[in-house]
Formats: sequence, structure tokens, C-alpha cells
Amino acid sequence: MSKIKQIHNQLINREFSCLELIQKHLDLLKQNTHHTVNSLLEDIALDLAKKVDTKIENGEKIGLLEGIPFGIKDVYMVQGTYTTASSDLLKNYKSSYTATAIQKLLDAGAIPLVKENCDSFGHGSSSENTIFGAVKNAVNPDLVGGGSSGGSAVNVAKDFTVFSIGGDTGGSIRQPSGYNNVYGLKPTYGRISRFGLMAYASSTDCVGPIAKSIEDVRIVLNVMSGKDVKDQTTYPSEEISQENSTKIDNIKSVGYFKNFIESDAISPAIKSDFLATIAKIKDKGFEIKALDFFESDTLVSTYYTLAMAETASNLSRLDGTNYGHRIEGDNLKDTYSITRSENFSEETKRRIVGGNQVLSQGFSDEIYLKGLNLKDQIAANFEKDFKEVDIILSPVTPNTPPKIGDSLKDPLAMYLSDAYTVGFSLGQLPTLTAPQGTATGIQITAAKKNDAMVLQFANFLKELI
Ligand code: GLN
Repeated sequence: MSKIKQIHNQLINREFSCLELIQKHLDLLKQNTHHTVNSLLEDIALDLAKKVDTKIENGEKIGLLEGIPFGIKDVYMVQGTYTTASSDLLKNYKSSYTATAIQKLLDAGAIPLVKENCDSFGHGSSSENTIFGAVKNAVNPDLVGGGSSGGSAVNVAKDFTVFSIGGDTGGSIRQPSGYNNVYGLKPTYGRISRFGLMAYASSTDCVGPIAKSIEDVRIVLNVMSGKDVKDQTTYPSEEISQENSTKIDNIKSVGYFKNFIESDAISPAIKSDFLATIAKIKDKGFEIKALDFFESDTLVSTYYTLAMAETASNLSRLDGTNYGHRIEGDNLKDTYSITRSENFSEETKRRIVGGNQVLSQGFSDEIYLKGLNLKDQIAANFEKDFKEVDIILSPVTPNTPPKIGDSLKDPLAMYLSDAYTVGFSLGQLPTLTAPQGTATGIQITAAKKNDAMVLQFANFLKELI
């Protein structure tokens, strides 16, 4: 059931005004105790709502997204608003321009309500690495909201926003969506422009929607997609029609990775629920193939080697000179070092140090180039797999969400919890979390640029389970 369409109809039937709608959501966000809000965009939102109401009063037609309230992970530039990346370094930074993906939503008339809490610079899997307080899970507030787009997933799950825009480098849309029982899509790399998304690891960073229905994911994906001259990795893509997203006839075979399921790290309940889902799919006449894949440890180490190298490079511009909260030292070098030591979190510093080590002379051939080589092998493996199967299914996470506080004690355990999401990122594939099949959902993946097929299978799965 599309909430976007439902609210659109209620607006044009004048069941409530856009101003009432926006005010209600702003109030919900203000009162919420899940730590999902970094800043509210109250003035912008109320102003835009009044304009939508004037159009409706004048009998003008409004577009499907016009007046629909949404949230934005606090790593996207929106001109004139705080864009903090949940960090001390940027806590007073205001964007001077607007990200392409967000601009497209604004052009379609959607109303931004909130910059959402997340792990600082996208570094994390729990949304505890933030200066705004750990994001609390929508279902059980003692547990983490997941990360790094935790605030976005919780806002959608709690109906504080109709949809939210997350960012996914190694699982940050899919994992919190799984932890909070909502849909979250990481599209094919390059389908949506990254311009104005604060860079974490540029080779896998993706913009994507989180929503409560496949239909809403489709609507928002279509609006944000497309070639952008400001991001040379983007490609032109066709709109996915509703009709196309509900077809299933060209999907014949489904694969899953044996070693994901046979790993010691997976919880018995997630394993048996996943296999039960596979059995149900088989009963419907699909061919099921158990596939070989790289060990989870290899995927996690390849991803973190590359992600740390890229983030060390991307964050080198944050030294308090052009951006960020500057702390003066005795000389320029001291200023850089104090600014960066005091203002980056422990987790971010761990990654900068690790990344610079990976990139440094004498180590880069050994580590970084090896990482790149493995990435190519992983991509080649996927290409081979998608000659054999149309869809690959996997659990989203090996375990259910941890208690708040637990992940911070053991960063390595946190990295390993990304075992099922990072491989698809390295492959630059379209992957959706559907809130079904296991306690933390199921990931549906198709070949590159085949985002439509992911939605098709999700629609089938929704009916099946
Ligand atoms: N948890 C992963 C990491 O910390 C993924 C984060 C993300 O996708 N931004 O790198």
C-alpha cells in the first residue's frame, strides 16, 4: 500500500491541509525520544506546505510527491541547512548548495522535514557513533537503530516521515531497514547522482530511499535517478513503471550463497527462517541454486580496506581551514592536528589511521592493490552468478540488533556484522531489504542496472510470505 498515493489522495480530497499534515509530522519528530533528529527544517517545510495548500485551494493540479513529507540523512547538502554528518567537526556547518538527488525531490514538490541522525560520516553499523545520542530502534528502544542511516529507518518505521533518503556504502540503508522492518533500497551504483552526498567511500557510495512499501520505493527511486553532469559515474536509466515492477514472468531462478548460511556467525533462527523462505519460493516453481562465494571474512576485509583508504582520502579536506570547527594551535601544523584529533570520533579516527596506513608507501602494493584486485574478482564472480540465476537472496544480517552500547565495545565484531551487505556494495549491484523472511529481513539482489527486477521479486515475495 503506497502511503505516498494515499496521502496524495487525502490532500486533493481536502481531508486535511498540507499545513496540518506537515505540522503533525514536525510535532511527532519533535516529541520523539528515539534520537532521530539532528535538525528540523521547520521554516522551510511550513513555507512549502502553505504553497501546496494555495495550489489546492486554487484548483490547480498537484504532482504525486507534492506536499509529501520526507527525511534526509544528515550527510546530504541542502542549501542553507546544517549538514553535520553527526560530527563535532561539522556541527555548525551549513551547506552552500543542494545535492542533486534532494533537488530532484524538491523539484517534484516533496517537503523536507528533518536532517536525520546517523553514524558520523557513515562510519558504523549501529548509529551510536554520533554526537546526537544513539538512535534507538523503532521496535525495541533498548536496541540500536542500526546504521549508518539509523535515524532515517527509524523515522520511516515510526511514521515520522513518509519516506527518508539514506546513504549506503556497505549496507547503511539495508541494515537499518532490516533492523526496523521497513524497505530500503541500494540502487545500482551510478543510478542516482552522488553530487552533494558527503563522500565516505566514493567507489561504493549510493543514494537510496527507505519507505514502508515497494511502491513508494519505486516512486522515489524514479524521481532521483538519472545522468548528472556533476557526477561522471552516473548513467541514464529508464523509469520503472508500476506495471513493470509487478511482473514476475522473466524471473526463473533464484540463488543463495551456501557459505553465508553455513557460517558459524549466523543465528540459528535467521538461518532456519531464511531456508524456510527459500523452500517456499521453490514450491512456487522457481529453480533454486546454492552458489559458492567468497568467505565473509574476505568480503569484510576487502570492503574495510578499500572503504578506510577512500575515507582517509575524502576526509583529508576536513582540517578546519575551508570546512569545520577550527581549533587554533601554536602553528598551522598543530592547528590541523588539534582540529582533527579533537573533532573526529574514535571510530572515524580509527578509519583514517587505518586508511592512511593502507595507502602509505611500502604498504599500498601489499594491501590496497590487493584489495582492488579482490574487488574485481568479487565483481567477476557476480557476473558469472548472474549468468546462472536471475536473483540472489541473502539474509541482511547474521544476527538481530544488538543492545545499545554493545557494539562500541567491540569494533571488529561490528565490522563482521556487515558480512552479508558489503559484498553487494563491492559488486555495485542493486539490492533491496524487504522486511520479511527473517527477523531482520531478506536482501534481494539482481544484476547491475536491473533494479526493476529487484522490485519485481519484492512484489512477488510480499504476496508469498
Ligand atoms: N557499516 C558499514 C561501515 O561502517 C557500512 C556503512 C555505510 O554503508 N555507510 O562502513
